[in-house]
Amino acid sequence: MSHFCVNCGAPLAPRTIEGRELEACPNDDYVLWRDPKVATAVVVEAGGGIVLGRRSIEPGYGLWCLPGGFVNHDEDPAGAAVRECMEEINARVDLTGLIGVYHVAKTTTSSMVGIAYRGRLSEGAAITAGPEMLEVRVFPLDGLPPIAFPSHQAVLAAYLRSPELVVGPEPLTAAAGARPASPPSPGPAPRRQRRKG
Ligand SMILES: [Zn+2]
Repeated sequence: MSHFCVNCGAPLAPRTIEGRELEACPNDDYVLWRDPKVATAVVVEAGGGIVLGRRSIEPGYGLWCLPGGFVNHDEDPAGAAVRECMEEINARVDLTGLIGVYHVAKTTTSSMVGIAYRGRLSEGAAITAGPEMLEVRVFPLDGLPPIAFPSHQAVLAAYLRSPELVVGPEPLTAAAGARPASPPSPGPAPRRQRRKG
């Protein structure tokens, strides 16, 4: 399929860049890069279990998954994760750590870079289903339902291997909400909640 320049509308032409065959504009610097999509997923701890949502949209309609979604081009991934939780489970979530970064291979579209966080419901937050969910529920770790996506299965497997909270230097949510120029906030160190047992 032929493509056209987003700047000037000219048909793109093949060009080899760093050993890869790409399509580029003959008139300006536009290149149709084949970049991965960046997506987040969050293991949200709540009441001794974790929050899952049952999907009201494809892919995975009717199946359970972690809250999360794509990162917009101008977003901090941690901020995108918090936003997606707000949209999907209608609750403010504080991110507490990074579970891992995953390559999610795709056959028909660009691959994905998955960034998996752990978090917990903010003080007093209650979960309800957002428009992309049929229902949301807290599941005990030993009673999880079948999970929609292999990438989310991998995240949960990693989480279940080490559910103990590995404390980082700063809560990730603070970084997500920060403006580039704002200094770190003073004040008391945030409380860390450690899973019992
Ligand atoms: Zn052009």
